[in-house]
Amino acid sequence: MSNHNIASACTSEQCRRGLSAKTAMRWIDAQGNRCDYSFGDLETQSNRFANALASLAIGEGDIVFTFLPKMPEQFFAFLGTLKTRAVCGTLFANFGEEALLDRLGDSGAVCLVTRKSLYKKVARIRERLPALKYVILVDGDDDPANGVIGYARVMAEAASDYGVQPTGADAPSVLHYTSGSTGKPKGVLHRHGSLASQIATSQTVLGLKEDDVYWCTADQGWVTGTSYGIIGPWALGVTQLQYGGGYEAQTWMDLLEREEVNVWYSAPTALRMLMREEESIFASAKLPRLRTIFSVGEPLNPEVIAWSRRLLRHDIYDTWFQTETGAIMISNRPGLEIRPGSMGKPCDGIEPAVLADDGSVQPDGEQGNLCLKTGWPSMFVTYLNNQSVYGSKFKNGWYYTGDTARRDADGYFWFMGRSDDVINTAGHLISPFEVESALLEVEEVAESGVIGAPDDLLFEKVVAYVQLHQRFQPSRELELKIRLHVSNRASSIATPQEIVFCDGIPKNKSGKIMRRVLKARYLGLDAGDTSTLEI
Ligand code: AMP
Repeated sequence: MSNHNIASACTSEQCRRGLSAKTAMRWIDAQGNRCDYSFGDLETQSNRFANALASLAIGEGDIVFTFLPKMPEQFFAFLGTLKTRAVCGTLFANFGEEALLDRLGDSGAVCLVTRKSLYKKVARIRERLPALKYVILVDGDDDPANGVIGYARVMAEAASDYGVQPTGADAPSVLHYTSGSTGKPKGVLHRHGSLASQIATSQTVLGLKEDDVYWCTADQGWVTGTSYGIIGPWALGVTQLQYGGGYEAQTWMDLLEREEVNVWYSAPTALRMLMREEESIFASAKLPRLRTIFSVGEPLNPEVIAWSRRLLRHDIYDTWFQTETGAIMISNRPGLEIRPGSMGKPCDGIEPAVLADDGSVQPDGEQGNLCLKTGWPSMFVTYLNNQSVYGSKFKNGWYYTGDTARRDADGYFWFMGRSDDVINTAGHLISPFEVESALLEVEEVAESGVIGAPDDLLFEKVVAYVQLHQRFQPSRELELKIRLHVSNRASSIATPQEIVFCDGIPKNKSGKIMRRVLKARYLGLDAGDTSTLEI
């Protein structure tokens, strides 16, 4: 069996090609301290981590999660886990207890790699996670009674060579949970064979060349952070800048300039934040090495492209994909004329279509369901423990993405929206159901309905309609209490930007929250057919 192992491709294969001494990761922490790791370092650190897992009898068939901010250990643990042929899931460091419980509980993860400050959240739910045998603390010591392992100790004891067993293309690899509009988040499972799509698009869309310095700002908790912040670029032997600090316009410009970044992959909200800054920051930036800027996650407004052309003297190429697709499916790219506002054209080997609800192809210019002909290498293999929902996404050889779009006569695709109630805030998909569930845990809240409303910066903001039990009154303190609760239970990004206190939540006769009606109410529009409305 030939070896399709993603982690071998990112490390051992690069060393075999003679790149062991080449910088794989230029790590810069939030304070600006810098440390270079070569492909040889990535190889030995991930080997050690693989051996550490093996010493705990963790391997093929197991699920290991990382719950870390961007930091070197994130990358070593991800690659080391894949070397053992265990599945690696990644958790966004802002997740709250309920979000963690849903994901770790549903997946039956046996091991979690985290740090002390984040472990506090896990410790509070640990007894509800019977499958979770080990917690590896990157900044902690052994605590055998609680199944806690000190990273430094276990890595020091682990050998630096590791023989990766042949890994088939269908062997499961990466797990990301994604939010739907109903039910709990779904575990999107990928396979090692996804590497083919991630490599191909890193070449044909991102245009990565071996001597490039590349910076992807996405967090490793999301698919962009793994497919294009780890896998594709390293499997091509490209040097990646990994920056552990947050958004700060001047720092970002300094990084692009000083680190001589050639290819930069970011997101519309971050780019819109830059657009709001003083123009002098960009006028003084010297970016002779910067070749291309890419964006993903939300619609890219034409104004952002115009701003970048004027101040950064570069185009921004929009790309479209989702957790389930594992790699970029539709994109703008050098060599293809940009139509500002369009997501671009299909990538090689990808066949998208805009289908009506009856499955017929919509004429050009008409809106419909954005679908993809099945069979590309990085297509997800299932929703973990949820085969029926997985099956419902496919019809007649088409995968239904949940997005609506239109195609123009020249074959460009234009994003129109979601066909469900999922909210896209700053590129993060938020389930209204998850926020509603968290809201109902607040003592004062009787009912709630959560919608996404247009926002100039975030694309959409989370708006919560809240009906209180009769004995309670709305107040500023209560608003704060509600916000804090959602942040602790779900995540800070799911926290409502706006809370609207109301006397009733519209529901249909079977008790389903009519978010469409709430949205129309919020926007001051006609709610359409409300004949099935209860309240
Ligand atoms: P996720 O699975 O969290 O990566 O989110 C994928 C979803 O984000 C897609 O289904 C779209 O709704 C949205 N999305 C991603 N890229 C774009 C884009 N370039 N333009 C518009 N929406 C996008």
